[in-house]
Amino acid sequence: MTDTRCDIVGLGTGPAGSAAARGLASLGYAVLCLGQIRSPETIEGISERVVKALQHQGFTRALCVLSEPIPRHVLWNGAASAANTEYLVDRQQFDAALIEDLQQHGVTVAQDWVSSATDVGDAWQVTTQTGKRYSGQFLIEARGRRASSDAPCLRRGPETVAMGVKWTIPSAEIRPAGVMAFSHSNGWGWVVQDGRGMAFTQLSMAAERAAVKASQDAEAFIRRMLSDLGTANPLPGGAYPAEAAHYRGSTALLHDAIGTRNKLRIGDAAMAVDPLSGNGIFQSLSSAMAAPAVINTLLQRPQDSAMALQFYQDRCEHLFERFSRVGRDFYQQIDADPVSDFFEQRRNWPDQQPSHVQPDRVLGTAERPVINDGFIERKTVVITADQPLGVWRVNGQDAVELLQAKQRD
Ligand SMILES: Cc1cc2nc3c(=O)[nH]c(=O)nc-3n(C[C@H](O)[C@H](O)[C@H](O)COP(=O)(O)OP(=O)(O)OC[C@H]3O[C@@H](n4cnc5c(N)ncnc54)[C@H](O)[C@@H]3O)c2cc1C
Repeated sequence: MTDTRCDIVGLGTGPAGSAAARGLASLGYAVLCLGQIRSPETIEGISERVVKALQHQGFTRALCVLSEPIPRHVLWNGAASAANTEYLVDRQQFDAALIEDLQQHGVTVAQDWVSSATDVGDAWQVTTQTGKRYSGQFLIEARGRRASSDAPCLRRGPETVAMGVKWTIPSAEIRPAGVMAFSHSNGWGWVVQDGRGMAFTQLSMAAERAAVKASQDAEAFIRRMLSDLGTANPLPGGAYPAEAAHYRGSTALLHDAIGTRNKLRIGDAAMAVDPLSGNGIFQSLSSAMAAPAVINTLLQRPQDSAMALQFYQDRCEHLFERFSRVGRDFYQQIDADPVSDFFEQRRNWPDQQPSHVQPDRVLGTAERPVINDGFIERKTVVITADQPLGVWRVNGQDAVELLQAKQRD
């Protein structure tokens, strides 16, 4: 067997692996990504912030497969609201488009299933199911929730599973495109209609309950849950499943030791939040967009490795805790009496600290690592109660200078 060599091998070509590979290629590294597009088919929703991040990365093909913004309705704890819009993403189409974008940006992609990744001292050796072998100086672990687990989790939320089903809607019952998130007695759900005859239902529930449901009639179960919504039930009566139900683990988890001198976990492989926070792809992109500067520092300025790794670990932990608390706040809104075990467990996790400190207060300035020009470097930043890791720049301007100007006024 001959090796295909490169500087950096990326495992996984989802949003995180793609964004990190793109960033590293633009820093001049030869990057090779190995990934198999995930199955089964699933629909996800993304916000304007993700669209902006994709534009910033030059993922033009991926942007082309997004839907138009779709109105989002919420029925939570019995209260209805029409909050905002979201863009729908068919993940198989989206991930295929990300691969095309990567290739356009000079990243080599091999669509193959990774069997093993071994650190042989001065390089990583990766083998695939089709018997190919690749090697590189640095390894990016971006296989999402399926990433190998070489260290215990630092934090792990209540065990949760989401059951997803795609439905076909008869033409007489097609309604305008819309998304609805709702709470039910033992969990919460998300229903999409694309306005063209496809619906997607996703019910999140405690893992032990999902194990029972998997052995029963999923279709009847979903219909029963949705019929509890009465006239707000978004699934037309004539809809029928286009495929068997699939189950995805959606437990919030944060890995320990997410970086070493020659390996970095990014995206869901580093930390995966509860989809109720609705930001999974955004958070994956956030950790992935910081990764090129961290890896560049590890490879080019090894004397700064400890600082770069600490910066990355702190950033992931901070994001994870913030969004876990955002999810907890939604669970706390359920005031059924008695509240079911599902909500009881989740309304107290991860802790009782606020998700945002309001009003925000400036606590002072301090030296902290930041991303600057492709590296992690120490700069003086402004520390606030809500941003304990510090703010270095605000709209391109130095935050410390802005603070000093404000104090002079
Ligand atoms: C039920 C559920 C609903 C969600 N809904 C939303 C939503 O509506 N909006 C949102 O923003 N986020 C949502 N998320 C979160 C979102 O899916 C993830 O946060 C995001 O996809 C993570 O990106 P990633 O690149 O880190 O990992 P992934 O997207 O999981 O990408 C990992 C890639 O690696 C591949 N892979 C895995 N193992 C191997 C292997 N051995 N060899 C080769 N390739 C491999 C996978 O097939 C996949 O292509 C949801 C998550 C769940 C569980």
